[in-house]
Amino acid sequence: MENYVIVVHGGAGPDSDSIKRNKEGIQRGLADAIQCGYDILEEGGSAINAVEAAVNSLENNPLFNAGKGSALNEKAEVQMCASIMDGETLNSGAVAMVKNVKNPVSLARAIMENTDHIYLGGEGALQYAEEIDIQLEPDSYFVTQQQYKEYAKKRKQKFRSVRETALEEIHNRAHGTVGAVALDMEGNVAAATSTGGTPNSVFGRIGDSSMIGVGTYANNKTCAVSATGDGEYLIRSCIGNSISCIMRYKNMSVDKALTHIIHKENKGIKGEIGAIAVDTEGNVGMDFNSERMHRAWKRKGKETVIKIYREQI
Ligand code: ASP
Repeated sequence: MENYVIVVHGGAGPDSDSIKRNKEGIQRGLADAIQCGYDILEEGGSAINAVEAAVNSLENNPLFNAGKGSALNEKAEVQMCASIMDGETLNSGAVAMVKNVKNPVSLARAIMENTDHIYLGGEGALQYAEEIDIQLEPDSYFVTQQQYKEYAKKRKQKFRSVRETALEEIHNRAHGTVGAVALDMEGNVAAATSTGGTPNSVFGRIGDSSMIGVGTYANNKTCAVSATGDGEYLIRSCIGNSISCIMRYKNMSVDKALTHIIHKENKGIKGEIGAIAVDTEGNVGMDFNSERMHRAWKRKGKETVIKIYREQI
């Protein structure tokens, strides 16, 4: 059979001037990430290696809200979350609220492979990263002008009326979380997700991206999923595991399962959510309830396809 495919996303949410301005750079970033993962799959490499490489490429790209370019919390600090899961073994690794780690998804993978644990957070995660000599960067590496502007604007809003602020929030949220799912030649799927979280979030806030079964899930019995959007809503619906469960127990195809969870199960929610998924036969699903979700995919021997808005699905 030897089918293989990789799908990446660069966040779901509203459109914005910054996205319009950086459209080409964002598309290039998605294409580069796809290529990083695809090269590995083409050489017979594993899905877990492919998703890590694709997410690393997006973490290193300042146009996305992960690694360099992460959102700033209310203290103007970068605290990142990431997770990774192997669909063959169900092994998983996750890290929350970590600072200074250049590639949080690689730290999540190291936790998965080298410890008896799945999930490390905060100081402990950083200490572990130092112990294993993973690449660290100073605070200044992670902060981009765009994210600082976002932070300063939201900080100003703090002193305005709650209603004004809430309305503007809805229009200005800069989601740019990144994720990847892949199927390799061996028929194994894997998923990975990485984020700087939501701008100006309360210190200590953790979203869905580091949560196994929510932002990231992979199981060879069903599919691999990476989600994006308002973590508080994605967590309520355990989105990754829910998509997998309705495939498994209701016999739904991956694209139908994903669309069902986003548009039926979550109908009417006030948050914006999206996800990408791939099953063990190489069928893909991607859907969102927001204005846009940056996404790209490449199947064995085919061209890379890149989409941003809904009408282009
Ligand atoms: N899901 C991420 C979080 O809530 C944000 C995003 O995907 O844009 O932290």
